[in-house]
Amino acid sequence: MSPVLSLRQVSKVYGHATAPVHALRAVDLDVDAGELVAVMGPSGSGKSTLLTIAGTLEKPSSGQVTICGSDLSALSADATAGLRRRSLGFVFQDLNLLAGLSAVENVALPLELDGLAARPARAAALRVLAELGLTDRAAHFPDDLSGGERQRVAIARAVVGDRRLLLADEPTGALDAASGEGVMRMLRAACKRGIAGVMVTHDAQLASWADRVIFIRDGRVVDQTAPPASPDALLTPDPTS
Ligand code: ADP
Repeated sequence: MSPVLSLRQVSKVYGHATAPVHALRAVDLDVDAGELVAVMGPSGSGKSTLLTIAGTLEKPSSGQVTICGSDLSALSADATAGLRRRSLGFVFQDLNLLAGLSAVENVALPLELDGLAARPARAAALRVLAELGLTDRAAHFPDDLSGGERQRVAIARAVVGDRRLLLADEPTGALDAASGEGVMRMLRAACKRGIAGVMVTHDAQLASWADRVIFIRDGRVVDQTAPPASPDALLTPDPTS
């Protein structure tokens, strides 16, 4: 199975040749379907740049980005926009939910913008809201929801339809600890259903919900945690001991 997202030697340089800013340096990263990867690092280390490039919102200065098997450098601008509309979902700290639309209308919007008729778009939105425990909130407007509920609606909007890659920037930044943990549970469950997820966070506790954590410093991936051993491994005697 090939990864949903693959970065190969991806670098990004901002600014002029006389004063270049190396936001990313030769980053390699693969994220598989069903896997949630957390990205940690100090401010200015390149985390947002990584999300922006993985989200096709900017092009790398060099290196290769592959999403769902498509090498982005070989796609036209229109094809890239289509891939972004259909296959990518974004969750930001300031959720960008539209206040004049109900929860279900907010979640259905990306599908309708992509040309799906209102009725099937609404049905798909209701299915995702149900998976996130929000059926009884579907008709509510964002102002009538709690912070945690609003964030779950934003996650629903980011995973609705046939989305393959979920990109989240500090998705729990504005929430208290209990709501933040609830949101992480939802995010992880969404990934377990077969979406690849990349989440930037400053919070090590929240990062521990991920299958893997990568650390970035000065634009380089400096460390990766191995996936945690399954609980079964603790019960199996170690043959070397
Ligand atoms: P982080 O998300 O880890 O705080 P960023 O990816 O936002 O880091 O930024 C990495 C580096 O790239 C920083 O030095 C930042 O100032 C620079 N940078 C980010 N975006 C731009 C831009 N559009 N133009 C110029 N420099 C930028």
